[in-house]
Amino acid sequence: MWSRGDHILMRYGPPGEYRTVRPLTVVEHREDLLVAWLAAGTPIIRPVMADGREIRKAPLEERFELPRKGVAARWKGPGILKLIPLGAAHSIWVFWRPNGRLRGWYVNLEERHRVWDAGLDTRDHVLDLWVPRPRRWLWKDEDEFAHALEHGLLTQAQGDAIRAEGRRVSRRVQRWKAPFNEGWEAFRPDPAWPLPDLPPDWEREPRDRIAS
Ligand code: MG
Repeated sequence: MWSRGDHILMRYGPPGEYRTVRPLTVVEHREDLLVAWLAAGTPIIRPVMADGREIRKAPLEERFELPRKGVAARWKGPGILKLIPLGAAHSIWVFWRPNGRLRGWYVNLEERHRVWDAGLDTRDHVLDLWVPRPRRWLWKDEDEFAHALEHGLLTQAQGDAIRAEGRRVSRRVQRWKAPFNEGWEAFRPDPAWPLPDLPPDWEREPRDRIAS
């Protein structure tokens, strides 16, 4: 178990091909949930197209077919709080506006987390949910998801499982269940926390997985 203030890495991608790497500060780690903070200014790895274009600027036909690369950057804008239900295939990101007011909850559908001593690894599942206020939700990036299915980047079985996970989360949103109802929107980071580093060996593979 991690302790409050510990630094961990959240990485997205297949082993050896992580294109999104975010150093986080642990807020709370309990059996069912890991809560971690991504602070503004944190050094990160973020994905772009291999030719340097922003992914959102690449047409949909190219976005998934052409290779990507990870580039070093800093996390811009307000920090985000990640609520990571352990054993589930999603994480929930609490977003605030620059003035400190809540924007909403972004549910990123992703592979079940692979936990190791330095953090968590997963893969993005393209489809997401946006929760603008309690009990309200909508799908996000359905066009990208449909494209990924049509072009065989996700199998139909994977697509069905991803959609089913999204529906499970949506029912929790409608009934406003944990962790949505736990008051995390009132969270503020400890001002004494230092920014985490991006360790030079951020690409390293674990010797052992603690759980999968
Ligand atoms: Mg996503």
